[in-house]
Amino acid sequence: MEIIDSHCHLDMEPFNEDRDAVIARSIEAGVTRMVTIATGPDSARRDLEIVEKHPEVFMALGMHPHDAKDATAEVLDDLERLAAHPKVVAWGEIGLDYHYDFSPRDVQWRVFAEQIRRARALDLPIVIHSREADEDTVAVLRENADGPVRGVVHCYGGSLATAEALVELGLHISFTGTITFKAQMEVHEVVRRIGMGRILVETDSPYLAPKPHRGKRNEPAFTVHVVDKLAELLELPREQVIEQATANTLALFSKMAV
Ligand SMILES: [Zn+2]
Ligand SMILES: [Zn+2]
Repeated sequence: MEIIDSHCHLDMEPFNEDRDAVIARSIEAGVTRMVTIATGPDSARRDLEIVEKHPEVFMALGMHPHDAKDATAEVLDDLERLAAHPKVVAWGEIGLDYHYDFSPRDVQWRVFAEQIRRARALDLPIVIHSREADEDTVAVLRENADGPVRGVVHCYGGSLATAEALVELGLHISFTGTITFKAQMEVHEVVRRIGMGRILVETDSPYLAPKPHRGKRNEPAFTVHVVDKLAELLELPREQVIEQATANTLALFSKMAV
C-alpha cells in the first residue's frame, strides 16, 4: 500500500540536519512518495535539489500569498521556467492568507488570479492555501475558472458550505494532522459529507504535527495518522482510505503517475 504525503515542505530549515533520514523514515512508514511545496523562487531551487536527489520526492512551486507583494512579472517568469522540470507536478501553493496579512489583500487577490492563469497555460493543477479567506478564495476561483478547476485546497479547515462550493468547482480537498485534534467537529462533518472521492492526505510538515506528536516537528511519516483519522471518521477500512487517497493524488498530480 502506497501512501502519498501530498503537501510538505522538505526544503525548510527544521529539516536541515536530518533531511535524508526524514525521507527514509517516511518510506519506512509506508509514505513512499511525497510532494514538497516550494513557496517562492529560493525555496523552489532548494526543492529542485531535493527532488533530483530522491526518486520518491516530487514538487510544486508557486508564490505563497505571504509573499504576493514580491511577485513581480520577472519572479513569476522565473518560476515558470523552473516549472518545466519533469518532477514539478503542480503550481502552488498560491491563494489568500488573511490571518497574517503579510501582503495587502488586493495584491494577494491579483497575484492569486495571475498564477491561476499561468498554471492553466502550463497545464498544471494548482495547490491552494486559504486561511480566514474562504469567501474570497471561492470568488477568485469562480472569476478565473474556465471550466472545472484542477487543484486542491490544502489544510482544509473551513465550513461545509465552502467545501461544497469548492467540490462544485471541481477541486479536491486535503486534510492535515489537525483533523486528529478535538474541537474539529465541523471539519469532521466536512470529511463525512465530502467522502473519499475528493480527499487527499498531507502533513504540511514541518508544521502542524498530529496527535500523538502535537507540539513537535512534523514529518511526512506522520501522514499515517491522517489516514487513521479519516478511516475512523468514515468508518472505512484503512486500506480503502489509502487506496482512494493515492488514486486521487495521482489523478490530480498526473505527472507523478507516468
Ligand atoms: Zn499553506
Ligand atoms: Zn504548506
